[in-house]
Amino acid sequence: MRREINLNGKIIGYNIKKNSRAKNLSLTVSRNGQVGLTVPKYFPIFLAEKFIKEKAEWILEKIEYSLKNTINPIVGHKKDYLEKKESALALVEQKINYFNCFYNFDIKSLQIKNQKTRWGSCSTSRNLNFSYKLVYLPESLVDYVIVHELCHLKQMNHSVRFWDLVSETIPDWKIRRKALKKHIF
Ligand SMILES: [Zn+2]
Repeated sequence: MRREINLNGKIIGYNIKKNSRAKNLSLTVSRNGQVGLTVPKYFPIFLAEKFIKEKAEWILEKIEYSLKNTINPIVGHKKDYLEKKESALALVEQKINYFNCFYNFDIKSLQIKNQKTRWGSCSTSRNLNFSYKLVYLPESLVDYVIVHELCHLKQMNHSVRFWDLVSETIPDWKIRRKALKKHIF
């Protein structure tokens, strides 16, 4: 049964399911932000609502988190790629110029691609590729991706020496690397 409830001023829809075998209430918020409550068969609705209200903060936090991480259906499509390719290249060029003032590495070519899973890559022949999806990232994470690939021009691995090189311009790379993992398209 689909119902609505006001949680701290926000109208939230939820599904309530009666289960004759359930002994306790069980509340879930799915990855896409759907709220579900399973209750024992003869459990009164007003008590179910009281329970949800008690968990308001937890539910709203979960929903907000899922909204931030919802997969955007437009991102990755050819049309979106063609529209944003130019601005992605401009962004990458500007960042490469900025950070390479420090590193001074030789770059053979720079390309923007519609890569499925990678933000960037670096080949042994010194070609750098970046995903156009960088335009969707916060600037601090763009910087991290750029510096990461740039440093592979010198260290083709993820050794301590590689991370030392990254640290020279991105001292908090660990935090950024973790934050980047939360962005899935
Ligand atoms: Zn790497």
